Amino acid sequence: MLSNRQLFLNHVAQTSPAPLMLEIERAEGLYMYDVSGKKYFDLIAGISVSNLGHGHPAVVAAVKQQAEKYMHLMVYGEFVESPQVKYASKLSEHLPENLSNIYFTNSGTEATEGALKLAKRYTGKTGIVSFKNAYHGSTQGALSVMGDETFKRSFRPLLPGITLLEFNNEAALANITTDTAAVIIETVQGESGVTIPSKSFIQKLRNVCSEKGALLIFDECQAGLGRTGKLFAFEHFDVVPDVLLLAKALGGGMPLGAFISSKEIMHCFTENPVLGHITTFGGHPVCCAAGLTAFNILVEENLTAPVAAKGSFFDTLLTHPKIKSKRHIGLLMAIEFESFEQNKKIIDRCIEKGVLTDWFLFAPQCMRIAPPLIITEQEIKTACNIILECINEVA
Ligand code: PMP
Repeated sequence: MLSNRQLFLNHVAQTSPAPLMLEIERAEGLYMYDVSGKKYFDLIAGISVSNLGHGHPAVVAAVKQQAEKYMHLMVYGEFVESPQVKYASKLSEHLPENLSNIYFTNSGTEATEGALKLAKRYTGKTGIVSFKNAYHGSTQGALSVMGDETFKRSFRPLLPGITLLEFNNEAALANITTDTAAVIIETVQGESGVTIPSKSFIQKLRNVCSEKGALLIFDECQAGLGRTGKLFAFEHFDVVPDVLLLAKALGGGMPLGAFISSKEIMHCFTENPVLGHITTFGGHPVCCAAGLTAFNILVEENLTAPVAAKGSFFDTLLTHPKIKSKRHIGLLMAIEFESFEQNKKIIDRCIEKGVLTDWFLFAPQCMRIAPPLIITEQEIKTACNIILECINEVA
């Protein structure tokens, strides 16, 4: 009989020449346990998803309860489904007034797609500005605004009318014109290896978009929902976008994304044509029930408050002559080594020793650290000691 590992390689579509191939049997809190019983510290939270750690009992209970009441009933936007309505209302309580209309999707990529369509429709324009080293998803629209040629080249032609600007470069903002329908930007770039823009850049961007009549889209699929130490990353910059994208942690471990705007802007999707954006499963009741429960815990237990200090603690502990640079905002961290090869060796050694980290798509020389927000000081110490040991062994 073939093992699960062999079946995985034979029948599950492969996108990596060297998948991690961990076979996890169960996961709880900060930890994952593989089929041999080996325990791993999860320092990446399924790429910024598991804010509360794995298997939070309240989230699991919400999933069970909702699954027993009903799962899929009807395509998006027709029925009044209580988990969706409650979650949309709750999110809008915590967002500025112009971000109170929520379109739920299945993923971050679809949130990007919906937002780009919305901007074209609302402004009647077609130009879209995005930034170098940006990641907004992998479908053809989202790929068009990706800021990395290596990942785009083989899939052209993509969307026309895209202008890529230098991130965090105020002079480059002169390329936003009255033909620009939207500027899409990660409030803090993730896959570039954690790039934090200056407040003045983001504020200037806001002003230019308003002047030129372009919608400003903040992609916080990765940086939102407490990861950076604020509930929403845009709070660091005292600026409010026209459209906000959320995903990853939004579903509390279930697939859920959203693009969020004002009722006025979102209204474009109801006429000329009707059904301007369609999804069968977006805002699935079980995903919304899980997400709402996770969001309530995040807010009520104020799990965002200690995030900045936890990030700084990591930063202090991870000091080693082989580390070339470090960047972090809250619990979104990049630890830079000399090369991808060195980084990968350290990452692999960490996995052998039971600590799961990763690299970044556009910064393969950087180690990604983005653990569940519930990680404790003691767990940070233990994990950092193991990482330092691995650096010593490998480098
Ligand atoms: N935007 C950003 C900033 C992301 O980091 C990601 C996922 N890495 C996405 C969009 C796409 O999300 P998904 O994989 O859920 O489609």
